[in-house]
Amino acid sequence: MLANMAVSITVLASGSSGNCTLVSSSSTRLLVDAGLSCKEIMRRMKLCGEDPSCIDAILITHEHGDHVAGLHVLAKKLKVPVYMTGATHESYRRWARDSAGNKVTLERLESFASGRAFHVGDVLVLPFTIPHDAIDPVGFTFVSEGIKVGVCTDLGYIPPNVRDHLRHCNILMIESNHDVEQLRGGPYPWSVKQRVMSNVGHLSNDALAKYLTSDYDGGAEFLILAHLSEKNNHPEIARMTAERALGEQRSFVRNHLLLAAQQEPLPAVRL
Ligand SMILES: [Zn+2]
Ligand SMILES: [Zn+2]
Repeated sequence: MLANMAVSITVLASGSSGNCTLVSSSSTRLLVDAGLSCKEIMRRMKLCGEDPSCIDAILITHEHGDHVAGLHVLAKKLKVPVYMTGATHESYRRWARDSAGNKVTLERLESFASGRAFHVGDVLVLPFTIPHDAIDPVGFTFVSEGIKVGVCTDLGYIPPNVRDHLRHCNILMIESNHDVEQLRGGPYPWSVKQRVMSNVGHLSNDALAKYLTSDYDGGAEFLILAHLSEKNNHPEIARMTAERALGEQRSFVRNHLLLAAQQEPLPAVRL
């Protein structure tokens, strides 16, 4: 085995203004979502000491703008395959436009189906269905070199299938979107509040805490709270709620809690 073998995750951005995460093994680099401009993704990668030209593929969770805004330009520039489900691609193709207003085509498209594992380089990717108001949204687990990484945001609640897929993760990035009280009293119109709180909206701090106390196996060395709302949450509230939930499980001492942010990347977490 090579001494430098490692699996890492670098959250370049997370939140409703744009999502992009780099998952790497020693020989493969995958970008999950491209919800910032191509330029900003490149800037943040360089800031983290990563070379954008080393990206092997881009994987898309769902077609919402905060996950695909920079996709077309980035894919063209890097000339890498883009993986998404057929339905997500259909939906993306219908509305995606370039800066001149023309429809866009992805030159190297690879389709996958939720529930079916596939390899990109030495990484085994398993997409799974999540409850969210997009056409065919997925979360991912990645396994390489015996390390399992889970990436799961944009979901209204945690159904049994998601709970099962997230078992035995060594690194788990999971949504802690909003504080329910802040959302209720916050600036969003009522229809948007209802959408966020619904079963196909976003996971609240309390819903995550409930998962952490009752269903989470405690096996992750790193737990990354993600897709925090900038208007309806506060990082310290999200952190405290998760810490309290983890604290109730004495055996979870190995869990390091980290928070992904919208405005700046979270430095690489490596195992
Ligand atoms: Zn999102
Ligand atoms: Zn979404």
